[in-house]
Amino acid sequence: MSQSYVIVGDGIAGASAAETLREEEPDADITIITDEGEPLYNRILIKEFAKGKLPEAPISIHDESWYDDRDVDLELNTLVTDIDPEGHTVTAHDGTEYDYDKLLLAIGGTPTQLPVENSDAEGIHHFWTFQDARDIKEHIEGADNSVVIGAGLLGIDLAAITAAQEVEGKYLMRGKAWWRYALSEEGAEIIHEALRERNVEPVFDSGVDHFEVDDDDRVTTAVDPNGDRYDADFVGIAIGLNFNTEILGGTDIEYDNGIYTDEFMRTNHEDIFAAGDITEFHDLILGDRAQNGAWGSAKEQGTIAAKNMVDYGSEEFRWVSSYSITHFDFPFLSFGHPTLGDDHVEAKYSDTEWRRLAIKDGKIVGGVLIGDLSPQTKYKKLMREQVDVSGQKEVLVKQDFQLDDLEGAAAEQ
Ligand SMILES: Cc1cc2nc3c(=O)[nH]c(=O)nc-3n(C[C@H](O)[C@H](O)[C@H](O)COP(=O)(O)OP(=O)(O)OC[C@H]3O[C@@H](n4cnc5c(N)ncnc54)[C@H](O)[C@@H]3O)c2cc1C
Repeated sequence: MSQSYVIVGDGIAGASAAETLREEEPDADITIITDEGEPLYNRILIKEFAKGKLPEAPISIHDESWYDDRDVDLELNTLVTDIDPEGHTVTAHDGTEYDYDKLLLAIGGTPTQLPVENSDAEGIHHFWTFQDARDIKEHIEGADNSVVIGAGLLGIDLAAITAAQEVEGKYLMRGKAWWRYALSEEGAEIIHEALRERNVEPVFDSGVDHFEVDDDDRVTTAVDPNGDRYDADFVGIAIGLNFNTEILGGTDIEYDNGIYTDEFMRTNHEDIFAAGDITEFHDLILGDRAQNGAWGSAKEQGTIAAKNMVDYGSEEFRWVSSYSITHFDFPFLSFGHPTLGDDHVEAKYSDTEWRRLAIKDGKIVGGVLIGDLSPQTKYKKLMREQVDVSGQKEVLVKQDFQLDDLEGAAAEQ
């Protein structure tokens, strides 16, 4: 009898799983359910659309015929509201039940709302879906001034959109540096300067206390905790994600921030798997639970989950995640878990070249490279192979670092 697979979420994790399942099991029944109104698109590129640099068409990855051609049932605009692990069914908002033999939860996250007065006013945007990007583009094109909140990887996309659309902006940050958990002030200053050159002014030790609105409930001003006021008819907020775990309530699927999985992407239920941003997976490299928020990692987890849904234990997830930023004249890459670690080493080489490596128990667990990305392969190799670099931190950040500069490591290569 053919197996029946249900996938919740048609992001890159869910869609990659569907593709792999079809390759592995030509006769299986495969259903993919999404609450979005369109099939898989490239979430990484929606910022280029909002900047006005790309039209809609190249951002779409699959049209509906992709699913038809592979005999995959695609349910758009369908929100799964309940899971019954014992009965092997999921239920959608309209009461439709879907039976499964194996279930994949690839449900990602939803942008966190800022818990301040008037944060739901007209003109205030969060950024996750293609529809969000369309709304942002339409609004920013006619805006006079902007405020962006959220000093991380998505906040900087919003700041870059305001810059590309030539709207003067303030970028309000809580500390003294952009992405202060991964960069020092010296490294972040390279980013700050690039923002200033594009007419976006970083404002430190700031944030939002409340927004002011006009009679039509449209945002006019952001007021920060110091009482400073910033006029803005466009506001972009990216302060993090709430992972979509609410449908797990009432089940005994284990989760905390995300859904717990093993290295085969299986949850504590034999027939339920999870993949992508939603997982707190057993990271074999870190030797601990971890969560990634990156496209490549989500894609790989979808593929690995599918293989293990077909044949549990067949392939483990062992991956160093990467995330690059392409808004500036210099390249930027973060890899692994740059905000973790009990130690770090960093070096600045020029006004646009800087590196920092995060180290835990003597091993590289992540890093940030600005300006010159060429050493990334070496650092990722050391990380993947869990090479002990204790006592050799400074060697790692030599500008032309080579693996055989490292005592003992050369033998392991
Ligand atoms: C603007 C932006 C820029 C980014 N830039 C980069 C980048 O440069 N590099 C990089 O590596 N990563 C980037 N990312 C992050 C990357 O896109 C994500 O890590 C990746 O898309 C996660 O894929 P996923 O499939 O796990 O989750 P998602 O893409 O979030 O997909 C989950 C899907 O599940 C649906 N869903 C959730 N709950 C339910 C439910 N109950 N019922 C039905 N459907 C449900 C959601 O609507 C969504 O469609 C960016 C993200 C954004 C938003």
